[in-house]
Amino acid sequence: MKDLSDLRVIESTLKKHGFDFSKKLGQNFLTDPQVCPRMAELACSNADAVVEIGPGIGVLTQQLALRAKKVVAFELDRRLPAVLKETLSEFDNIEIINQDFLEVDLNDLICEKFEGMRVAVCANLPYYITSPLIMGVLTARAPITRGVFMVQKEAGERLCADPGTREAGAVTIAVRYYAAAREVFGVPRTSFIPAPRVDSEVIELIPNQTPPVEVGDEVHFFRVVKAAFSQRRKTVVNCLSSGLGIPKEGVLSALRACGAHDRSRAEELTMEQFAALSRML
Ligand code: SAM
Repeated sequence: MKDLSDLRVIESTLKKHGFDFSKKLGQNFLTDPQVCPRMAELACSNADAVVEIGPGIGVLTQQLALRAKKVVAFELDRRLPAVLKETLSEFDNIEIINQDFLEVDLNDLICEKFEGMRVAVCANLPYYITSPLIMGVLTARAPITRGVFMVQKEAGERLCADPGTREAGAVTIAVRYYAAAREVFGVPRTSFIPAPRVDSEVIELIPNQTPPVEVGDEVHFFRVVKAAFSQRRKTVVNCLSSGLGIPKEGVLSALRACGAHDRSRAEELTMEQFAALSRML
């Protein structure tokens, strides 16, 4: 098996296929041999099969295929399936689909391709679509055992922050509603070719069986969260009053009733306080 994290192998493979990196598609390929086995080990720890997003030349795909019964990988770049056919030729448990993963219905995919299997999702993500992709996977509420994702370090810190802390944002609350999130290990920018401008980290998401809080109407809950974080320097009262068109007195009495103070900012509120606010407003 070729070491697809070896710089010489990557360069000769890409040269042979006349491939140049697309910045637009977030193409930074991994060159650290330690990273993919760790990601694959975690993803496959309680799964029989894996959905991968953006295999590139297959460095993570081969590690997943060594541990899972089946891997289905979605690659948007039309030039890469030919490369992958060659680099992954010794595996018979990998299917490459040349499609934008943002257009995939994860529930349909699992029914069609993975009947009776426990499925994980794993990816070294193209950073330009980190949030829509992760939120797409979570909101699908598909029966996956876990998600293991490489993301920009800053994005990982925000996605895995504890609600009620300075690092928290609207996406933190959204992720926590659907999953338990944790930062697993850091990956420096020097582990990629070409090297991105920022460091990365691997995060793990384990979907909740039931939401951690009772919010009543989910659509309204997320509207409240988004409005509360819309202007980070402003207080929750001002954000919610202007964002949702509710008189300040109404927002203030709801805030007091859920134990927050009048000048609270969104990052100070817990999941329970957001849920209570959403039910009251
Ligand atoms: N997995 C490889 C690695 O670790 O070296 C490549 C990772 S690279 C950061 C992201 C990959 O995602 C690229 O191969 C890119 O072409 C692909 N990609 C970008 N947008 C995509 C999308 N919407 N759906 C599927 N693949 C996508």
